[in-house]
Amino acid sequence: MNDRPMPDQPYNDWKPDDRLNFSPVNLVTAYLKHAGAVVEPAGYALFQVLLPEELIPAFGSEELLLAFDYEVADETPGSTFVTHGSHLLDTTVRLALDYGRQTALYWSGKLPALPRSLEERLSTRLEFRHCRPPRIEASWVAENIYYGFYFRCVFRSFEKTEAVIPVFIDGCQGLPAPAFTREAENLFLLEEPEYQAAPAPMRPLADLYLVARQELGQLVQQQARPLQQTALRLQERELAKVRSYFTETAAEIRQKLAASSDPDKKARLEQQLAATQTDQERRLQDTRTRYQVEVDARLDHLVAYHLPCIFIRLNLQHKTFNLAQTLIYNPLQGDIELPACPRCGRASSCLVPTAAGQLLCPDCLK
Ligand SMILES: [Zn+2]
Repeated sequence: MNDRPMPDQPYNDWKPDDRLNFSPVNLVTAYLKHAGAVVEPAGYALFQVLLPEELIPAFGSEELLLAFDYEVADETPGSTFVTHGSHLLDTTVRLALDYGRQTALYWSGKLPALPRSLEERLSTRLEFRHCRPPRIEASWVAENIYYGFYFRCVFRSFEKTEAVIPVFIDGCQGLPAPAFTREAENLFLLEEPEYQAAPAPMRPLADLYLVARQELGQLVQQQARPLQQTALRLQERELAKVRSYFTETAAEIRQKLAASSDPDKKARLEQQLAATQTDQERRLQDTRTRYQVEVDARLDHLVAYHLPCIFIRLNLQHKTFNLAQTLIYNPLQGDIELPACPRCGRASSCLVPTAAGQLLCPDCLK
């Protein structure tokens, strides 16, 4: 690992924090720029947008003033407040999804059967704290959809590289699906299903897209790391060259200064020295910019992988009351998927009952 500081702004779209605290600002501004709009910051959480002609019908106006903060929106006449669930954010997500081509593929394996060692798997994989061992109340086969969002990413630095990065999201739980690998894609060969299974409840595609974008941020960083390290090495070398060249030049001028007694010549040399200094700053800045790594990502295509899974309803007893929890047995993974915490939406291997009768992850109870 390279522990030297990274360039100031390694990515134009994502910073590490965005994964945890995803804001609509990035999505909306990144999408609008990709689509050819001019997006200018106009103050804190405020952006002036000039749309290309083809987007005017979707947004209803050529110019937009977008506020991503409630108070800013309130204090700025003519601005549109953008937040989760707002019409503008929904429109953006819909348009961003339209960018990609969509395909549906169906599982070509057999319908899954409930594994014999399920109870044992349950106890090793999941912990229901302060509860009696779970009782399996019911199980049924239903078709879940795993969405593969394939993002085309362009990594721009001293060289330009391109990669398609897939992000798989479980449509029912809205969680990243790590078991869904490139190899798994080969198990979905049918364009029509050869099985019969009821559909599982699905989260809105727009929500899944937001989860995919967050996940992409992390994948992009992983993918960019080698390029970033090479860029940093080359940048250091180039910066050292620039500095050494200017140090030598400045030393020569200083020598001449010391040797001269002519005031006109001295003034000229002083000027030259100052110009050299400015020139060096500019060259150093250029070099830093050239070796920064910027990433541009857009959705290339979307594949809906239909997979029959086993849904398992558990009954959990905590003190005197009973709680229900539904789990998904994923035949691709050959295992039970971790459930999503209903509060933070993250996968958790441990759930704890609350006084209000919810099952939350330990982090949400702190
Ligand atoms: Zn939680």
